[in-house]
Amino acid sequence: MGRLAVFGFPVTHSLSPSIHKAFAEQLDLVLTYEKIETQAGKLKNALENFRRQGGSGANVTLPLKQEAFKLCDQHTPAASYAKAVNTLFWKDTELWGDNTDGEGLIRDLTLNLQLNLKDKRILILGAGGAVCGILPPLLAHAPAAIVIVNRTLEKAQALATSTSLKAYNYEDFNASLEAPFDLVLNATSASLFNTLVPLEGKWVANAIALDLAYRQGQETVFMQWASVHNAKATYDGLGMLVEQAALAFACWYKQLPHTQPVMRMLRSKLF
Ligand code: NAP
Repeated sequence: MGRLAVFGFPVTHSLSPSIHKAFAEQLDLVLTYEKIETQAGKLKNALENFRRQGGSGANVTLPLKQEAFKLCDQHTPAASYAKAVNTLFWKDTELWGDNTDGEGLIRDLTLNLQLNLKDKRILILGAGGAVCGILPPLLAHAPAAIVIVNRTLEKAQALATSTSLKAYNYEDFNASLEAPFDLVLNATSASLFNTLVPLEGKWVANAIALDLAYRQGQETVFMQWASVHNAKATYDGLGMLVEQAALAFACWYKQLPHTQPVMRMLRSKLF
């Protein structure tokens, strides 16, 4: 039996226990999955306690992904590129960190939504932990361009290190002569607070707009705004959530569960 948990703050509304329980049932495995509320700066102690009590693997969410990266003895290549960790496991006494957010988003975009990212123009809003994770795998799909727009310009500039990336703040971006985008990813946390980023509506017209956030029972405020401004289609972050969870599950159990039935279950029960 495995003992798993998600660490973060807040974690009360996390869907991870339901997702991993469904994966375990699918593969006939027995596990427990807890939510352990942990404030920034407290992860080391919380993890040591968890390990002492038989913990075998964990997820880490806001605001602990960078803190978790620093605590790990070893990192997978995805975690090393992202410098942020969302999945933890132990090999003997060594703590390993992986980052499945980026591949989770790629699987949602390419497998679930059937999008081809090659030669596409991608606009990313935000420059926080999630963007650190999604940038390397997005770049690996050879898009024509990726533009990062963030409230704090310096954070976007720090991520836009490769020549195929550009960084702006909202004001300069809205006034820019950038060509239209095929895909707009809202990777800010604004939707969690029911607020909109100061982006002009013209940037989502005819684009696919995906919000990494999700809201139970309704579309996020960004999705609603993008529809009003003629986005071609809008999606939330539930697909990415389930895909990143499946990859984390594969880290722990070496088996990749089917994600479609779990997405259907979550949408019918919760949305
Ligand atoms: P984070 O590290 O705290 O970064 C937050 C980002 O949002 C920063 O770039 C911040 O800009 C920006 N922001 C926040 N409020 C804003 C506002 N009112 N206007 C403009 N920009 C604003 O958070 P994160 O870990 O990157 O997470 C970002 C989002 O992705 C969250 O909604 C999270 O739930 C979602 N996410 C979803 C999944 C999934 O599986 N679906 C996985 C990971 C993350 P500044 O830099 O200027 O502060």
